[in-house]
Amino acid sequence: MSASARPIYLDYNATTPLDQRVLDSMMPWLTGNFGNAASRTHLYGWEAAEAVATARQQVARILGATEKEIVFTSGATESNNLALKGAFEALGASRKHIITVATEHKAVLDTCQHLEAFGAEVTYLLPDSDGLICPEQVQDALRPDTLLVSVMYANNEIGVIQPIIEIGSLCRKAGVLFHTDATQAVGKVPIDVQHAAIDLLSLSAHKLYGPKGVGALYVRKGISLTAQLDGGRHERGLRSGTLNVPGIVGLGVACALAQKELAKESTRLTELRNTLENNLINSLLNTQINGHRTQRLPQTTNISFGGLDGEELLMSLHRLAVSNGSACTSASVEPSFVLKALGLPDDLAHASIRFSLGRFTTSEDIDLAIGHILEVVSRIRNGA
Ligand SMILES: *Cc1c(COP(=O)(O)O)cnc(C)c1O
Repeated sequence: MSASARPIYLDYNATTPLDQRVLDSMMPWLTGNFGNAASRTHLYGWEAAEAVATARQQVARILGATEKEIVFTSGATESNNLALKGAFEALGASRKHIITVATEHKAVLDTCQHLEAFGAEVTYLLPDSDGLICPEQVQDALRPDTLLVSVMYANNEIGVIQPIIEIGSLCRKAGVLFHTDATQAVGKVPIDVQHAAIDLLSLSAHKLYGPKGVGALYVRKGISLTAQLDGGRHERGLRSGTLNVPGIVGLGVACALAQKELAKESTRLTELRNTLENNLINSLLNTQINGHRTQRLPQTTNISFGGLDGEELLMSLHRLAVSNGSACTSASVEPSFVLKALGLPDDLAHASIRFSLGRFTTSEDIDLAIGHILEVVSRIRNGA
């Protein structure tokens, strides 16, 4: 298949391509500069350690954190596991209550479920029909034995941005740890862990034009977690294992680029997203946008095409790379649990598609996508 025949990629929330500038920054560390950052006795180790230190600054800077508060991991799944299991193992003897949200990523929900088997008691807050929770829900759920609140910054399926600053401040007042899975938010909206009183924050390189398999956990100074990987006591004992130097360098550069381009990209992507959204909503009957219209990432839209079969629609949109939140089990296709939590009936949840745009999406891509979707939906609805 030639390059031009490949579908238009509108699935940036699943993963982003590596930015060429990020790859360029990684190349020396994949070739001649192969040292182990923990080698203290020669140049190879020193230069690797220095590259990691620079990356640590770049990651810290996009969060308003300090270098010592950044722990490199294999990605956001591991960061979420370390945050929740690490806090529970360190402090769960006296505090076993965790508050989270029904629309979190599975890396948080499944970790909570795991901890329930070890005695944790978890409250799963339900969002409103826009996908948002309100700070009062968190306040009302607090107990004297609440250990931690975990609320994602921005949702991967519908893009809604939770009231993080308000939740952070009430957790701080209550003396409860506040973790946020900010994997979809970093580089897309400005984040300041001080202002938002965030104690723990997860991020991943491959959602912001960096490589797959590397991420970080921000751990506020003074917070103790129990390591989930024991070994050589890398990362101040919080995450043992030889550092992935090329990946970490790439993550650092990806953060620096995203931070530099954030404002401009945000405006550009909001316009493209709105063009796509408005054209579909205005031209097609029985369509609706899922999730809050303004408290939302600039590049995500989730649209229900009423009356259509989601699987058929996805298969028919062969010129686009898009997705829905459905999970295939052996017996059937389960509609997105996120959309169901918003109160969508099964058929509408099934008939929904997420379009997520990104750095390499052009207005030409969006025009082609609109034309293709309008044609395919009309064809299916006319029974052709
Ligand atoms: C992609 C994603 C993850 C998982 O990140 P990995 O680095 O792939 O493990 C976690 N949370 C959210 C919100 C995500 O979008």
